Amino acid sequence: MAVITIPLDLLDVEIIKLETNTDNDFIITVKNIKPTVCNKCKKKMTKIHGYGDTIFARHVPLFEQPVYIEIRPVRFQCQYCKDNRTQTEQLDWYNPRSRVTKKFEKYLMCMLINSTVIDVAKKVGTTEGLIYGAFERQVSEQVDWDEIYTLEILGIDEISIKKGHKDFVAVISSRVNGKTIVLAVLPDRKKQTVKKFLENIPERLKCTVTKVCTDMYDGYINAAQEIFGNKIPVVADRFHVARLYRKPLDTLRKKELKRLKLELSEEAYKELKGAMWALRKDPNVLDKDSTTTLSKLFSYSPILQLAYQFMLSLTDIFETDHNKMEASKEIKKWIKTVMESHLDC
Ligand SMILES: [Zn+2]
Repeated sequence: MAVITIPLDLLDVEIIKLETNTDNDFIITVKNIKPTVCNKCKKKMTKIHGYGDTIFARHVPLFEQPVYIEIRPVRFQCQYCKDNRTQTEQLDWYNPRSRVTKKFEKYLMCMLINSTVIDVAKKVGTTEGLIYGAFERQVSEQVDWDEIYTLEILGIDEISIKKGHKDFVAVISSRVNGKTIVLAVLPDRKKQTVKKFLENIPERLKCTVTKVCTDMYDGYINAAQEIFGNKIPVVADRFHVARLYRKPLDTLRKKELKRLKLELSEEAYKELKGAMWALRKDPNVLDKDSTTTLSKLFSYSPILQLAYQFMLSLTDIFETDHNKMEASKEIKKWIKTVMESHLDC
């Protein structure tokens, strides 16, 4: 049998058991290996007095399946203090209030980039309340820089939290070897706040930044240029460009579905349920149901199919590793084809 090493990404734990439940969720039983120190005499506690209630914490998914960390925290008794005091081990990676790991809360922030609270809750299978809670705990301009060795691609994005007064806030992330981690969720999205954050990045890390990716908001682009100068390229985030060119497709989809609702039988229209998701998904990972929905929709609306194909071919251009000249040539060619199609949306 092949052995797979799983990067659990949790400090101070050792895996005891890995199993799956009937929903194919991963249940990983762990034990804490960080020594517990007596709060009073500061000596290491080794005598086990008992166990606390089993903790079941949601963690970052593995292979797109939910993961839960199971642990029974040990209660130690001090052999040195006269009162034989007992103390339960601390789990630094766990948030007892939300019953999720801190990495999971960071993961939720990552998911919120280019998405909404409702969509993330649905996708991850959690509640909106939990996401708001995680968000409140993540908001901070403080970062433990000691844990970070390199930044490489720095992302400045916005996430929308439609609750209370904080409508939009900026999220700073770092992308290394294709893996994105959220560095900080800032209290607002003002240019000054972003600039102050960038200024406070330690010098040793500032010079590891190779590129700054941000949305089209001028404030962020200016803030990044003021801090990093002209040596580091500041590029408009492909996702934000994509959001702009996907919008007309969304508008056309709404218009066409409205028309079809009037023209089709109730039964036929019902079969188009989920069309919005199917259109937004990466076509390479579409499941069978979504593919069926799409082909039905396109048979009723050839114009939507055309717009969809144009959208995909533009995405292809962005995904391909072109040099500047090639890319600009490809885009011009794309514009010409779209113009000639007389598609209007
Ligand atoms: Zn003690």
